[in-house]
Amino acid sequence: MFPTFSLRYARLPARFYERFEPVPVSTPRLVAFNRPLAEALGFDLAAFDEQQATAWFSGNALPPGAEPLAMAYAGHQFGVFVPRLGDGRAVLLGEVVDRQGRLRDIQLKGAGRTPFSRGGDGRSPLGPVLREYLVSEAMHAMGIPTTRSLAAVTTGERVFREVPRPGAILTRVAASHIRTGTCQYFAARGDVDALRELAGHVIERHYPALGELPEGERYVALVEAVQERQAALVAQWMGVGFVHGVMNTDNMALSGETIDYGPCAFMEAYDPRTVFSSVDEGGRYAYANQPWIAQWNVARFAETLLPLIDDEQERAIERATAVIEAYPARYEAEWLAVMRAKLGLEREEENDRALVEALLEAMRADRADFTLSFRHLCDAAESPAADPQLVELFEQPDAIEAWLTRWRERLTRETAGPGVIAARMRAVNPVYIPRNHRVEQALAAAIDEDDFAPFEELREVLARPFEEQPGREAYTQPASLQEQVFRTFC
Ligand code: AMP
Ligand code: MG
Ligand code: MG
Repeated sequence: MFPTFSLRYARLPARFYERFEPVPVSTPRLVAFNRPLAEALGFDLAAFDEQQATAWFSGNALPPGAEPLAMAYAGHQFGVFVPRLGDGRAVLLGEVVDRQGRLRDIQLKGAGRTPFSRGGDGRSPLGPVLREYLVSEAMHAMGIPTTRSLAAVTTGERVFREVPRPGAILTRVAASHIRTGTCQYFAARGDVDALRELAGHVIERHYPALGELPEGERYVALVEAVQERQAALVAQWMGVGFVHGVMNTDNMALSGETIDYGPCAFMEAYDPRTVFSSVDEGGRYAYANQPWIAQWNVARFAETLLPLIDDEQERAIERATAVIEAYPARYEAEWLAVMRAKLGLEREEENDRALVEALLEAMRADRADFTLSFRHLCDAAESPAADPQLVELFEQPDAIEAWLTRWRERLTRETAGPGVIAARMRAVNPVYIPRNHRVEQALAAAIDEDDFAPFEELREVLARPFEEQPGREAYTQPASLQEQVFRTFC
């Protein structure tokens, strides 16, 4: 039933990882399984055997051909460099080739203490496992590059996080788990051979076109390519109000996927200063900082490649710097593209940025719900009769009404008619996002009552984020005052 492994990372030099077998757990139970994803990965579902699957996804048995390992990496954590982090609770079983011919990592997260665990227990509580499951799958459904969630298993064991919590393991799927921090690990050791090998591996897996370039061009092009994907990714996050929470360099995948969902959350009332993470006291990873943190992280990536970019350090720095300096323009273009689509604009006009900013400013001043504002705007594009619904989200009608007039005037220069514009907007402005209180409720039911029905329902709702689902209107609503979630924990 398990697809055949095509091992790649395990074939890289031994210093890239530590071989490590998942530590068995007492009484595993499969509590979530992603059938469509399993299908896409090449699992033979006709032969699905729950007991076998439970053994595999808990780490109690290894699927045929797996050569499990914990990846080595370093990273800047909240700006402070740590030369050795590595997978402290994750194990890469290996790569498989999915039905589209793409290489995919299959990793168990929470599989026990590895050589990189330091003081940690190598385990995950059920809550964060289910949160990552829900949010990563929601991101995928919204068309945002992300790791996926294949399965969740409870272990039957307790994990201590101030209080005892039920333990769980997440099976995570990614184009790869190679991070900025993976390159930093070797750069910190002055291991240029490893860097060359790793960069080659990243190019082959994620940026194959760069393999055609001459050696002297290839690595600076890699910095640029990674930067483009990061800029595009963060622009997409900004477009749905996503706050990652821990944009440390060890949590930035070179593939351009969203990775490592910890204390992440979606903003409700629009406020660029939004921070949810309990560990982000200084607000380093606040919503509005994300684009600039991504740039900082790409600069750290570029630094690792300097010895490959040019033999002469001065020239290498110059060339890398030229790339990084292009980030603001690149990000701006990606962000404007996202925001134009949200506003139903296909043409590009000089004043579009100001139009977008005026809407955001009205939302900020009146604490309007980010998701509902854009969704009601889709209806307003179809007919001004829908304006009151939107206006109602604002404390004062004046600013938003004035803005609507300005937007309508701008829409007259679009070629498409109202129906087409509204339909286009509804395909990019989600009705359903993983609202924090809904996520917390689903987690609490699973943790406290062993009731996975709310989790299942939320996961179904979030699988079709752009489609209105009759009977599920409650999921569109922001938290009431009592329900509001101000802090998230990993
Ligand atoms: P994160 O904040 O989840 O990105 O993790 C940062 C580092 O801490 C990584 O090296 C993780 O593998 C490690 N880590 C996080 N939680 C645990 C844990 N419970 N046990 C061991 N290592 C952990
Ligand atoms: Mg991490
Ligand atoms: Mg983590």
